[in-house]
Amino acid sequence: TTFAEARLSTTISLNVTKAGYNEPTPVQKYGIPVVLAGRDLMGCAQTGSGKTAAFLLPILSTMVSKSLYQNTSLDPGTAHPTALIIAPTRELALQIYHEARKFSYTTIIEPVVAYGGTSVAHQLSKVEKGCHILVGTPGRLIDFMNRGRVKLDQVKFLVLDEADRMLDMGFIPDVKKMVHEFDMCGKNDRQTLMFSATFPEEIQRLAADFLHDYLFLTV
Ligand code: AMP
Repeated sequence: TTFAEARLSTTISLNVTKAGYNEPTPVQKYGIPVVLAGRDLMGCAQTGSGKTAAFLLPILSTMVSKSLYQNTSLDPGTAHPTALIIAPTRELALQIYHEARKFSYTTIIEPVVAYGGTSVAHQLSKVEKGCHILVGTPGRLIDFMNRGRVKLDQVKFLVLDEADRMLDMGFIPDVKKMVHEFDMCGKNDRQTLMFSATFPEEIQRLAADFLHDYLFLTV
């Protein structure tokens, strides 16, 4: 199996080649077509499986081919991201952000990362310059939303990465708050992807809660 069979947009395919990825990993091979088809996905996959590219590549490809990104000059100072990726730790958020930058090379898409423990002002200045993909930890994302600097009304892709760790770290109430915010926007056209290394009962309940008619993939 090759990445060419995955039918990613030309620009994104080029960036995959530039990254030196020759062959998709199993979670990419089976996950990418599901996401490109617009389906919700519950993926049981560990770090190291290639799960980051499994969700980033089809999201970026769809954003590019359908021109799904907000014209940032419409609402200066406030970001309306197309994709929101929630991760439990700063390290993971940064890793996802760096992959997102690599794969969005030469596109108009601007990824931004937000995590706690550092200056809010610096991250906010990035956000307000334009932010199509927002990657962050729950607390800092909620903070930005509360300040009115991030609005979720344009979100088409929601990713919850390492959901079991978010559960262990007590982040689920914050995640639920964000999901509730989408539902307040009165839109139900978002595509939701959830990843977790384990699939205990609580995660199964969250999947049933957050995902709609989803496919289950375990690698
Ligand atoms: P992840 O599981 O997403 O944290 O990825 C683990 C590591 O594998 C990262 O350093 C990726 O850059 C790398 N990687 C992911 N997919 C591929 C691939 N298809 N070919 C080569 N390296 C990959």
